[in-house]
Amino acid sequence: MTNSIRIFRVAGIPVELDFSFLLLMLFIYILAYLGFVSLQLAILITLVFVTVVIHELAHSYVAMGFGVKINSILLLPIGGVSRMEEIPRVPRGEFLISIAGPLTNILIAMLVSVPILLDVTGPLTGLAGEFLAVNLLLALFNLIPAFPMDGGRILRAILAERMGHMRATEIAASLGKIIAVFMAVLGVFYNFFLILIGLFIYIGAEQEYQATLISSLLEGVTVADVMTRDPVTMDPDITVDEALEFVMSKKHMGYPVVEGDEMIGIVTFHDLSDAERTRNVREVMTEDVVTVNEDDELISALEKLNSMNLGRLPVMGDGRLRGIISRTDILRTLNLLRNKKMKREN
Ligand SMILES: [Zn+2]
Repeated sequence: MTNSIRIFRVAGIPVELDFSFLLLMLFIYILAYLGFVSLQLAILITLVFVTVVIHELAHSYVAMGFGVKINSILLLPIGGVSRMEEIPRVPRGEFLISIAGPLTNILIAMLVSVPILLDVTGPLTGLAGEFLAVNLLLALFNLIPAFPMDGGRILRAILAERMGHMRATEIAASLGKIIAVFMAVLGVFYNFFLILIGLFIYIGAEQEYQATLISSLLEGVTVADVMTRDPVTMDPDITVDEALEFVMSKKHMGYPVVEGDEMIGIVTFHDLSDAERTRNVREVMTEDVVTVNEDDELISALEKLNSMNLGRLPVMGDGRLRGIISRTDILRTLNLLRNKKMKREN
């Protein structure tokens, strides 16, 4: 994402501000300067966003303890987002990572209550009281068991101890969607913002459910189980014209280019149809080939295909070309496994 600026690092985690967030803050301070809102409100809003960053840092910090790599924390006008790799499927890990955020808000509220109770806040009493209240609200709001919000993740972790990751996700995501719809309906009558949050929760719950379903269906399946063995390969020294004729007869979209015993590139129908007919395959092929190993988990091949936006990957074993695996192969396998699971359940 390029619409953000990196402002500082805490414990090695970069914190980034989205430009829309900066505009919002600027807007609020201009309003305060012009006298439309109080300076106290502007300061309170600033403090709340600082708190949101601390909340996300707490999640990230605990996650790092479980070996999760943290990419960054991004601050948007609607709140903070920790961009981290997938949380390990250890219920205790997810529980602690998720509860760290709301606990931080409770801790801040407790710290702020001390000077208020000691009556030493003077003219800042109003601000301190509001800041305390906001932190308690943030803690309570995040603890609503609407997956994928913190409370929903805590619920999934507790359920996962008893019934396994997949079933726990199913229940937590369903509950998350019900609460999301409820929030949106409530939003129609009370606050437009709730509709937006409901929508985010609904989409988030569905996405995480699908991702968990896919990784659970593909658990234990390796690339070798699904790949096409002995793939049709192409000779680097034939012309594009000859290659296109070859493609018409074989009807695949991509071919490893093999010279002797070695794969030296990959060429797709698109590479060929865009190229001059008299050139050689060697000149139009892609040389930097992304490959997978035949022993790799199928899910990691799917992630590679998705993240690099590729259609197929050559499969290697002992340094030699063993097969080819395409996105279509994986989706077909997924559908088969999904049907099998549904039949089992009915
Ligand atoms: Zn949180």
